[in-house]
Amino acid sequence: MTADQRYDIAIAGGGLAGLSLAKLLAGEGMRVLVLEKDNYPRHKVCGEYISNESRDFLERNGLLTKIDELPQINRFELSFHDGKKRSCQLEPGGFGISRWKLDAHLCEKARQQGADVNENALITGIEEDSEGFVLNTKSGQNFFAKRLIGATGRYSHRLFPSKADQIAGKGKWFGVKYHLECDFPEDTIQINLFDGGYAGISRIEDGKYCFCYLASAKWLKKYSGDLERIEQNVLGQNPVIKKHLVESKVLEGPVTTARFNFIYRTAVQSPVLYLGDTAGFIPPLTGNGMSLAFRSAAVAADLITDHFNGKKSWESVETGLTKYGDQYLGRRIRSGVFLQNLALHPSTFFRQTLATGMFVFPPLLKKLSKKATGKNF
Ligand SMILES: Cc1cc2nc3c(=O)[nH]c(=O)nc-3n(C[C@H](O)[C@H](O)[C@H](O)COP(=O)(O)OP(=O)(O)OC[C@H]3O[C@@H](n4cnc5c(N)ncnc54)[C@H](O)[C@@H]3O)c2cc1C
Repeated sequence: MTADQRYDIAIAGGGLAGLSLAKLLAGEGMRVLVLEKDNYPRHKVCGEYISNESRDFLERNGLLTKIDELPQINRFELSFHDGKKRSCQLEPGGFGISRWKLDAHLCEKARQQGADVNENALITGIEEDSEGFVLNTKSGQNFFAKRLIGATGRYSHRLFPSKADQIAGKGKWFGVKYHLECDFPEDTIQINLFDGGYAGISRIEDGKYCFCYLASAKWLKKYSGDLERIEQNVLGQNPVIKKHLVESKVLEGPVTTARFNFIYRTAVQSPVLYLGDTAGFIPPLTGNGMSLAFRSAAVAADLITDHFNGKKSWESVETGLTKYGDQYLGRRIRSGVFLQNLALHPSTFFRQTLATGMFVFPPLLKKLSKKATGKNF
């Protein structure tokens, strides 16, 4: 193995958590490697709305600047299954940016800071020895690193197992995204409920809109994976969604993501640290997975930097990240799943009662939207 294939830190997965951590650690003088199975730019399934809870972090660390030039989103609208709508001010609000643009931008930032980001580098195996880790890639190249971070997203069970995977079982949800040209307010994120799922729409860069939905895998089975029929027969039951489907022009998509679950897995599988969705995946309706990916990178970067500078043992790094995972992330995911279950309750009577509650008591909607967001970091 040649010397330039040896790293202080290897990060498996070049998504939001992996790339932002890479930039932060490279900035502290570490030799950092990111292995990403695909390439940049590319479309990913995501609602592409970033909560302002991560805005300070992104700007302060030079990960994303000029956020003011992106669409600013500060209103929330919820439509129920029958199309009735309720809206409120969104606090602290957020902004829209496509994953096409964001991931490629973060990759560039990580590289400028000195991290090696290898694209088309699917990790096929990991071997651990007393010195560190050897990462095997599909192309046959091997890399060595003293420390390893798992940031391969919501399908991490093969490379980075966790006990929680067995409990969660087969993925119960799937997701679809389009970029649209449509007539819709720039400052609003609208979430539209339908039987077994919800569809969000909000603005991203260049005047485009991201239309993204998440639905129960039962619909895939019932309609043999035919998205057009699912959209017509299931999503189209909500008149608000039907209007979007009929009146908008599709610019990009569909991009799809297959079966997944919403669970807290773990933040540490000693001696590997798990970040972003690898640690746990929060429902998009009631959480901000992108901000949580950035938050986990922020927490891990401080801990790893202290270790690198001889101020902390690796055991204390693990203890610090476990605390974040168990006490913060796990709690947010559990409350997100609870709220999502309420919104998607199968009983029509229950849903109508919830909808009526929001009409009779408008502050409830604001309270719920606030619950989905964490403090700035
Ligand atoms: C339908 C839907 C809508 C969403 N909407 C929103 C939203 O509006 N706002 C929000 O904040 N969050 C949203 N999310 C959540 C958000 O997309 C994720 O939480 C976020 O992308 C997590 O970032 P990450 O870095 O952990 O993972 P990812 O961004 O998924 O990155 C993981 C990376 O690892 C790579 N990888 C995987 N396996 C390997 C391997 N073996 N070798 C090398 N590389 C590998 C992948 O290619 C990928 O690039 C949504 C999610 C879904 C499914």
